[in-house]
Amino acid sequence: MQTQRILIIEDEKPIADLLAYGLKQEGFIAYQAQSGADGLELCREVQPDLLLLDWMLPDCSGTDLCRMITQEYNIPIIMLTARSHIEDKVHGLEAGADDYITKPFDLREVLVRIRTILRRVNRAAVSNGDWISCGDLRISATEMTVMRGQTPIDLTPREFQ
Ligand code: CA
Repeated sequence: MQTQRILIIEDEKPIADLLAYGLKQEGFIAYQAQSGADGLELCREVQPDLLLLDWMLPDCSGTDLCRMITQEYNIPIIMLTARSHIEDKVHGLEAGADDYITKPFDLREVLVRIRTILRRVNRAAVSNGDWISCGDLRISATEMTVMRGQTPIDLTPREFQ
């Protein structure tokens, strides 16, 4: 399996450095961005396997960025938040985040959560040639087709995307 790339978008350098250090120790490649704009650009460039996204960034909110990225890419996102209010967690998950972690965090817990999400994603995408299977759904990007069992599902190109 190729080395998995994790993008950290976090303006607090010590936190980003700690995460990057832990990820490298675990054999991941870690990329860092300190702002939403840089993060988005780096995301396009490196196409990470997973995103660690801070809630509060200097130039935008993490939830807005989360929404933008999930519209464009299918990348699992873990939100990092200093807040512990339940509404904030709900907003993060509504914006498309797969999980959230409250700061201060335990590095080992972050790494376990990353591994869990990546394992889930890999299991869902057991690819069969060009076809990707998930439960009884099969998807072909080249044929722009989605099948449930033997039945094709009618989708517009936008819905397919
Ligand atoms: Ca921050």
